[in-house]
Formats: sequence, structure tokens, C-alpha cells
Amino acid sequence: MTDIHSEIAVIGGGHNGLVAATYLARAGCQVSIYEARSELGGAVASKEVFEGVAARLSRFSYLVSLLPTSIIEDLGLRLELRARHVSSYTPVDSAGLLIERQEGRATRDSFRAVTGDEREYQAWSEFEAGLRELAAVIEPTLTEPLPDAAELRAQVDQELWASVVERPLGELIEARFADDTVRGLVLTDAMIGTFTSAHDPSLLQNRCFLYHMIGNGDGEWRVPVGGMGAVTAELVRVAEEAKVSIRAGCPVDAIKPLAGGGATIFLADQEAITAEVILANCAPATLQRLLGNPYQPPVGSQTKINIVVRRLPRLLSGLEPAIGFAGTLHLGQGYKRLQQAYEDASAGQIPDPMPCEVYCHTLTDGSILDPELRAAGYHTLTVFGMHTPANLFLTDPAGSRERAKEAALRALRSVLAEPLEPCLALDRHGEPCIEVMTPLDIEAELRMPGGHIFHGDLAWPWLAADASPATAAERWGVATDYRGILLCGSGAVRGGAVSGLGGHNAAKAVLEEKGS
Ligand SMILES: Cc1cc2nc3c(=O)[nH]c(=O)nc-3n(C[C@H](O)[C@H](O)[C@H](O)COP(=O)(O)OP(=O)(O)OC[C@H]3O[C@@H](n4cnc5c(N)ncnc54)[C@H](O)[C@@H]3O)c2cc1C
Repeated sequence: MTDIHSEIAVIGGGHNGLVAATYLARAGCQVSIYEARSELGGAVASKEVFEGVAARLSRFSYLVSLLPTSIIEDLGLRLELRARHVSSYTPVDSAGLLIERQEGRATRDSFRAVTGDEREYQAWSEFEAGLRELAAVIEPTLTEPLPDAAELRAQVDQELWASVVERPLGELIEARFADDTVRGLVLTDAMIGTFTSAHDPSLLQNRCFLYHMIGNGDGEWRVPVGGMGAVTAELVRVAEEAKVSIRAGCPVDAIKPLAGGGATIFLADQEAITAEVILANCAPATLQRLLGNPYQPPVGSQTKINIVVRRLPRLLSGLEPAIGFAGTLHLGQGYKRLQQAYEDASAGQIPDPMPCEVYCHTLTDGSILDPELRAAGYHTLTVFGMHTPANLFLTDPAGSRERAKEAALRALRSVLAEPLEPCLALDRHGEPCIEVMTPLDIEAELRMPGGHIFHGDLAWPWLAADASPATAAERWGVATDYRGILLCGSGAVRGGAVSGLGGHNAAKAVLEEKGS
């Protein structure tokens, strides 16, 4: 067993691990990353999923909102996050709710067509404006030590704060909106990757909603040109330039904390590395396992489906597919349907049809397709199915994966004017290009416990009411129970999603502790 000394060891080379390592290496620290998989970037990755089909899909995460411009600029990342010209489309019978990115006539008209008059449109516009004010106050604090909730509250509309932060979101939705489709449109953002319901007293749905609304101060979700793999490629470039030592295919098997702070980490090949600071980019539950402590894995709840089509299918509503699929296409996400799906899943049933959202990367950025496929009209579709917790797949993983696929495709087929099958691209073996990943598959692929896409339930982005932070790690929301062992991933307070915040904030805490 060799014992190598390293100043800072990062467990995991996900996007957050790379962000933390680069900030620290640039500040003069000696940093080593130990990544279990052969690839870097964790859930931020592109892959040619289907044999013989040259389409590099964003296999796991697919859109970016919460990555602050300040981190992109600090690190000098050459990234283009491109706006979609449509925010969302929700088909309803022969019509649909179309929300343009730059709201115009079509948005207003579609509200009238679906809800009967202008009232829901007015209520929705006012609500959106209020959320932007909230976002403008909260977002700049994400790259600062955790703020005090009372200070934030004092800067925003009191009633909006209370209804988003203090009472179950369902109350706000039911008070402000009357139409089931509009209510569902608002609620879906509270349920992404999160198994909860509108009136959950834990307010988990409110926390999930808030993060979906505040990214870069406007809550817009953008397409990374070149796919998610382009984000990781840039992060690897700057990490290597900063002389971060990166070892992939190198799982950490155990951690032994040291009395004076820091720890020794043990790699699978018995190598031992002692470091003053350990940054855990792995999930908090993984960290506990490595420490030999009891732990409760979180519960992931999504079904991710990747598809390549030869052409986009026509929509029943008659809207051009190039418009309907350009933003987030909401399927089966009415307010009542979301509640029913939650109840079905709680009772052990895969919700069928499954509430899903679908998005077509290639309508905004065709560069992930080989030019020949692009010219032939091929497209990629990402389906993010909701309310499918990991336990639904435990007894019969293959059979339940197939049922989940059918439930999600049933939701998609219900809004199409033609069969889906002739539109599907075929791989080298003549099989349709559809990849389905349940939470169990996500866990197996990415080492995310329970397949939870945020490493665990999201926390409010401010200090807990009874907190009196004594260390830099506590002030930045990256503390563990061990001195010198910090969270630097999605499991940090404010770390969930593709944001780099877990990594940025851990690096800031380390540097503050070192007095640099
Ligand atoms: C299917 C899916 C869709 C999503 N969609 C979006 C989206 O569109 N937009 C968005 O903002 N967010 C999305 N998310 C969430 C987002 O991708 C994650 O929250 C984020 O990427 C996590 O980044 P991370 O660096 O903290 O952790 P991870 O990406 O989980 O990386 C952690 C790394 O640690 C490694 N590791 C774990 N254990 C060990 C060990 N013992 N030894 C060594 N290495 C280890 C893992 O292999 C992994 O590479 C999605 C996630 C998934 C799974």
C-alpha cells in the first residue's frame, strides 16, 4: 500500500469536481481528482448512444439554467448556451398552450384558445413578473456565503415570498390559476427529479420550483451548443491547463478521517492518499458509505428516454413540429393528472400515461448530428418522465423498464397525428433508436445513489433558521460532520443541477479557511 500526500483530493470528476479543482489549482493548491468512471463529467455528458447513428446525445442532463455567467467568465469557458425560440408547448385536445421565448401574440392567443379568455394569461404574466423579481434578489447570492432568509425576504413582495417559501405551492397555484393546464404548467417545475405533490407539507416541491425559476436571474433553460459533453470538455480543458491531476477509472473505496482534519482515502487498488482537504463530489450518501457510516440513499424518481427520429412526427393540434418540439413539450402534466400520477406511483404503479416533458436539442443546435443526418432531417428527442420512483423498478427491473417506456411513449403518441414508429431512426441492427433509463439505471451508470439526479432532496438556498455557522464550510453550505471533508457536488446546499455551484462554493470555503 503506497501513501501519497496530496494537498486537496477530490472524490469524483463530475462537472462540480472539475469546477472546484480548477478554482483551487489556479489559487496555487495542489489538487488531484479521483474519478471512478472512465469518463469525466458525471451527468454532464454526450454520447453516441445508438450504434451506426452519428448523433451525440446529451445522455443524462440536457439543459442549462443555473450555471452562473460569473463561473463561466471566471474559468474562461468557451461555451455557447443558446436560447430556444419557444419556451414550452402544452397540447390540449386540438389546441395547445404555446409560450414563446419573447412573449408575443401567439402566447396570448393560445391562452385564450385553451382557457376561454384572458384572465389566466393576465394571472400568469403577473406571476412570471413576480418570480423574476424574486430571482433577481436570490440568484446573485448563490455564489456568495449563504444569505439570511430574512434579509432576502425584506427585498421582495411579502405575499409572494410567503406563498413560494412558507406555504405548500399548491395553495398558490389554486389561488392564482383556475385552469387545470395552466396550473399543471406551473406545478411541473416543482416536480422535476423530485417525488412530491402540490400540497406536500415538507415544501420539497417549493424548493424544487424555486431552483427552476432563478437561474441567471431569469430562469431560462438554454441549450449547450455541442451538447452537454461540450460543457465537460471545456471544464476538463481549463482543469488541465491549471495543472489539476486527473485520474479516471479510479474509484475511491473508503475514507479514514484524520484527527487533525483531512483524511486518508483508499483507492480500489489499495493505494492510499492522505490529503489536508477532501472534497466529495460524490453524493452525500456515497460519502457516508465510504466513511463506513450508516446512510439512507435518496429516492430518484425520473425515467430518462433518449430517442433519435428520422423526422419529427406531426402533432395532432396541427402546430408545426418545428415549433411544438422546439421548447419543452409538456405531456400529461395537467394539475389533476400530476396528482393522480403521484398517487399511482405511491401505490406502487407506474403512472400510465406517464407525465413527461420532451425536448428536441437539434431544433436549436444541429451540431450534435453528423451533417448527413442533419441534411436528411433527423432529430434527437429527450423525454424526461416524472413520478417513477426507484422502488417501482426493484422487483422486475427489465419488465418495469419496458412498462415505463410504454407509459411514456403512450403520453407522446397521444399528441401525435401519426404513428411514432415510422418516424423512429433505426440503429445498425435495425432496432429503433430508443434508450430508456430508470433511476436504477442512472445509479448503475453514474453512481448517483437511488438514481437521484440532485444527489438528494434540494435545500433552500439560504441559512437554516436556527443556523449559526462557525466555519467557512458552514457559511458556504458545503460542510460535513468532519473537519477538512467538504461536499463539492449536487448534495451541497445550492449544489443541485448543472450549475458548478457545489464546486465553486466548496473552493471558496477552502480558500477562505486557508486565508487566501
Ligand atoms: C437523467 C438526468 C437528467 C438531468 N437533467 C438536468 C438538466 O437538464 N439540467 C440540469 O441543470 N440538471 C439536470 N440533471 C441534474 C444534474 O445533471 C446533476 O445534478 C449534476 O450534473 C451533478 O453534478 P455533480 O458534479 O455534482 O455530480 P455527478 O455528475 O454525479 O458527478 C459525480 C462524480 O463522482 C463520481 N464518483 C461517485 N462515487 C465515486 C467514488 N467512490 N470514487 C470516485 N468517483 C466517484 C461519479 O462517477 C461521478 O462522475 C439531470 C441529471 C440526470 C441524471
